[in-house]
Amino acid sequence: MNELMNEQRGADAAAYGTGEGGTADVAVVGGGVAGLAAALNLVRARRSVVVIDAARPRNAPAAHSHGYLTRDGASPLELVDLGRQEVRGYGGRIVEGTVEAVARLDDGRFRLTTRQGAVHLARRVLVATGLVDEYPDVPGLRERWGRDVVHCPYCFGWEHRDRALGVLGSGPGAARQALMWRQWSADVVLFQHTAPAPDEREGARLAALGITVVPGEVAAVEIGDDRVTGVRLASGEVHPRDAIVVGPRFVARHDLLDPLGVEAVEHPLGLGRYVKAEPTGATGVPGVWVAGNTLDLAAGVLQAAASGSTAAAAINADLTEDDAERAVLALAR
Ligand SMILES: Cc1cc2nc3c(=O)[nH]c(=O)nc-3n(C[C@H](O)[C@H](O)[C@H](O)COP(=O)(O)OP(=O)(O)OC[C@H]3O[C@@H](n4cnc5c(N)ncnc54)[C@H](O)[C@@H]3O)c2cc1C
Repeated sequence: MNELMNEQRGADAAAYGTGEGGTADVAVVGGGVAGLAAALNLVRARRSVVVIDAARPRNAPAAHSHGYLTRDGASPLELVDLGRQEVRGYGGRIVEGTVEAVARLDDGRFRLTTRQGAVHLARRVLVATGLVDEYPDVPGLRERWGRDVVHCPYCFGWEHRDRALGVLGSGPGAARQALMWRQWSADVVLFQHTAPAPDEREGARLAALGITVVPGEVAAVEIGDDRVTGVRLASGEVHPRDAIVVGPRFVARHDLLDPLGVEAVEHPLGLGRYVKAEPTGATGVPGVWVAGNTLDLAAGVLQAAASGSTAAAAINADLTEDDAERAVLALAR
């Protein structure tokens, strides 16, 4: 029996070879922390894995990544680089490229094609392509994004503590965001911009905590000497500020999943659009998983990595079932 199993494994290894042109057990699209954590756990489970990565993690504009226990302050690219080394150390393949299409073949495998012209075959697909931060198109924001134009207090609050902060309103959550940042600085101004005016209760809370609300549209973020210096209103009035807080709409990259029948939906709390799946990342479409920010718009680095690990275990369990079925069929032949 063991011999037969070994024979079967040998046959599978040939059929699912890890080299160029073979079929990997799992293709991971996106090699940020989520995709790499998944790949690490899969290669350690002796699965053949190819990670295809466009190499532009969401936090790349930031000099440091914070809050990941034991790696607080590491550079985002250093984290990814360490992750790549660990995956490669177990024989995982990581290739740079942008996947443009994922198609299911008649035999159940997946065919992935990249913009660069490469083709990869895999038994299972994990999409961990992250999300896009959509924030207002105000001049100055893009140039300073991830430095002194920020969104996440847990990522940047400590570094901007006690500074003159301006919250740029763009939706109904603006007052809540201003209240949140008050934890890190006593000098917070809420620029209403396109957000609704705070209601009576919000207004009272903001005032009680010393947060000024400035009505009127913001024309630009002023920059000087490689730093934010203030906020200019459409009226021409300028308010000196050291850093700007924005509230982006988070939109999961789901283009690859749409043709496979995986659904992207609006977040119930109005955070943006995410891919609907179980906490394991199983999308309900056989063979297709998601992890990281594609699944959880609010996930930081630690949570994104954890979701990759969770998905890896679920995928390995699914492959284990499949392997067992194949072994039974092979014996019956
Ligand atoms: C400016 C900024 C700073 C942040 N700082 C912190 C922080 O200090 N601490 C913290 O916990 N969180 C921070 N975050 C959040 C953090 O970026 C995310 O939690 C994390 O990046 C999510 O990891 P991920 O693997 O899901 O996605 P990503 O890290 O975005 O990785 C996705 C990967 O997929 C690739 N990709 C996309 N499309 C394709 C495709 N079609 N084919 C192949 N590859 C593709 C991308 O190039 C990228 O390499 C920050 C976010 C921002 C915007």
